Amino acid sequence: MLSTKKSILAIVSSFGLTVGLTVTTPALSQPSQVLNLYSARHYQTDEALYAEFTKQTGIRINRIEADDNALLERLRSEGKNSPADVILLVDAARLWRAEIEGFFQPIQSKVLDARIPKNFRSNDIGQGSQWFGFSSRARVIVYNKVSMNPKDIDSYEKLADPINKGKVCTRSGSHPYMLSLIGAMYERQGEAKTEAWAKGMVANMARAPKGGDTDQIKAVASGECGVALTNSYYLARLMRSTKPADMQVVAKVGLIWPNQASSGVHMNIAGGAVASYAPNKAAAIKFLEYLSSDSAQQYFANGNNEWPVVKSVKTSNEALNKLGNFKQENISIASIGKNQIYAQKILDRVSYK
Ligand code: FE
Repeated sequence: MLSTKKSILAIVSSFGLTVGLTVTTPALSQPSQVLNLYSARHYQTDEALYAEFTKQTGIRINRIEADDNALLERLRSEGKNSPADVILLVDAARLWRAEIEGFFQPIQSKVLDARIPKNFRSNDIGQGSQWFGFSSRARVIVYNKVSMNPKDIDSYEKLADPINKGKVCTRSGSHPYMLSLIGAMYERQGEAKTEAWAKGMVANMARAPKGGDTDQIKAVASGECGVALTNSYYLARLMRSTKPADMQVVAKVGLIWPNQASSGVHMNIAGGAVASYAPNKAAAIKFLEYLSSDSAQQYFANGNNEWPVVKSVKTSNEALNKLGNFKQENISIASIGKNQIYAQKILDRVSYK
């Protein structure tokens, strides 16, 4: 067998890649099951995550990795011919958009219903949920330890208080992370209060919104901004970095869990769903169920310094353990999806870029 293989490889090398591609076919003695995974995430721990699934089930994973927008664009152009079985996206705002564009199908799974908290999955409108969160992140406040008093900035609401004029930085208000946060505020306190808040934020800005969350943290450390918003994993990533520049940034910024005396910290998710036209639906459900298992929860969350969503699974991530416990917002992540439309309208009215 080995010698046959060797001679085939020899032919391949002299005839080039086209011949090479045909070589793998005869090696498959029986049709193996596959799963086509469209993923907007790529972390080192993912390799182990996928390998373990294949080991447990015999199902091979074909991965297409791209950023969220590129994946959605691809799904749009593929339409009903899409080979996608499972789609992984980050942030409820994006999952909701993909849901209303019809890229997902509802699924029935007792495992997922039991393991994934209700507030971390889409609404069940009859045939099961369409998408499920598999890791969670918090939208937190970071501040410059020299120039700011934590008492003045311990809630999202206070960031818009005139006392913080010229101190506040955020990324673009139209980014999904901001739309989800504002969508959650809208859910809690309605339109008028949310709009007043957004107006106050614009009035308090140290600079026009720009960059990503890590850029906000760095600008807080440099003193350009007094206070900023970031997703928790960007801070955790810097905390785990051994680069001297990152360590200096971390030393200069403080973390605040917002709204501990009121609604709790705004939480979001990275999650997944079974694609509308999944050719391998059973394998797709199996894979989502696998993602809710104890070991997969560890891999999945840890890949991006997030928390597992399954309550019984504890994180082993040092940086996250160092951050400790905090009170979380408990509104349904599905409800804030639709609110992002209202959030964007508010942002436009108050000229929040
Ligand atoms: Fe992110």
